[in-house]
Amino acid sequence: MPETLKNGTTVSELLSDFEMPNSALNSHLSLEEFHRLQCEKYNSSAGNLQGYDCPKCKNRGYFEKLTDDGFLVTVECSCMNIRRNIREMEEIGLGKDLRKCRFDSFHAEQDFQKFMLNRAEEYAHTKGNAWFWVAGQSGCGKTHLCTAICGQLLKQGRNIQYFLWGNILQSLESSRFKADLREFLMQAIYHADVLYLDDFLKTPDDDFGKPLKPSQSELQYAYMVINERYISGRKTIISSQHMLNELNSYDRATAGRITENSGKFNVNISRDDTRNFRLSQNFS
Ligand SMILES: [Zn+2]
Repeated sequence: MPETLKNGTTVSELLSDFEMPNSALNSHLSLEEFHRLQCEKYNSSAGNLQGYDCPKCKNRGYFEKLTDDGFLVTVECSCMNIRRNIREMEEIGLGKDLRKCRFDSFHAEQDFQKFMLNRAEEYAHTKGNAWFWVAGQSGCGKTHLCTAICGQLLKQGRNIQYFLWGNILQSLESSRFKADLREFLMQAIYHADVLYLDDFLKTPDDDFGKPLKPSQSELQYAYMVINERYISGRKTIISSQHMLNELNSYDRATAGRITENSGKFNVNISRDDTRNFRLSQNFS
């Protein structure tokens, strides 16, 4: 007598839907055995989730599992968290860049480019919470490499908060008299597992193409943010148009904390009108 399931179908009928081999169809299976086969079938199938290639779940995002008492449950694969993080990055506009700005799509022809790429790749594969600092004029490749680092860290399951410095500044200034809003923003900055601060302390260029010194209040906000991250000891990635030695001349406390936490991941590319970038003396 074939085993009949709740909805009146037989196990054999159900198995045929799953394209089980004939040997399974012909055998008498208990419901538990059937569920086990169903699990195996599901867990070996390929899914169609995009954006991240997961060898564990073959891009299904889920596993089916039999509990000890024979119940069939669906459990989430760890890649779903990575997928959510990538989706979040897409929502803030970094997703498109994540696909475009990878280490293998970075043009490293000149020495300074090779150096930048080398440091960025090493950083992305270094465990722990060291910081990454890269300074140089726009077009030198710092955003590309910081984005590639973020892509790599997302794949490692890290949570990344991306902030354009100008937006932080705007929020802090507009919420100057609203302590709760300011607190909310600072908490987000403080608690981010990984913080990517883009265009840190961005100011307009002077006539010689050198960025102007940031205002005193901007430097104070910068210190506040950097100090929060310094105290919490969390991973921070910073790109800026100001060289670290220039920042040191503006504010020693901020530059000192960045220098200490970035160690060898401290890359400064000299400004050059002809765009023949070269490595600046690394500040330490
Ligand atoms: Zn997975």
